[in-house]
Parts: sequence; structure tokens; C-alpha cells
Amino acid sequence: MPGHPKLRGPLTVKEAVKLTKARKVDKGWRANCPCDPDHKDLLKIDKNSEGALLVYCHGRCSFYLITRTLREQRDQSLICA
Ligand SMILES: [Zn+2]
Repeated sequence: MPGHPKLRGPLTVKEAVKLTKARKVDKGWRANCPCDPDHKDLLKIDKNSEGALLVYCHGRCSFYLITRTLREQRDQSLICA
């Protein structure tokens, strides 16, 4: 969010893993989806060849919704810190 010094840019893989408490699997990480409490262990986290975050929910939540939810969680924790 422009103008707010505490809010940062795009989520990193590390942040997404931490926020979702993801566990390491063969390729990337698995976690509970942040968008729906019924989506247990349906979230897949990975990175592309440039190291950018890739998230995919097998419950069909959109990339936009997942990253927006995680960013809100992250930025909220920064404000409260
Ligand atoms: Zn989901």
C-alpha cells in the first residue's frame, strides 16, 4: 500500500512458508489454505526459476486471493509488532 512505510512489497517464498506454517515436501511445500478453513493441506507452495513465489490451492482458490490473504496476514502482524 503506497504511503505506508511498514507495508512491504510482494510476498516472498519464505514469508508464505512461515505464514502458512507449511511443511517441506519433495517439491516445494504443503500447507493449509489461508482462504478456506476446509482447505486443509490443499495449498502448494513453490518457487519459479527466478525464486518468485508460486502458490496453488487444490481447492481452487485463486492465486490472487491466496496472496492477498497472506499479505494481509503479514502486514497485520507487522503493524501489531
Ligand atoms: Zn483454498
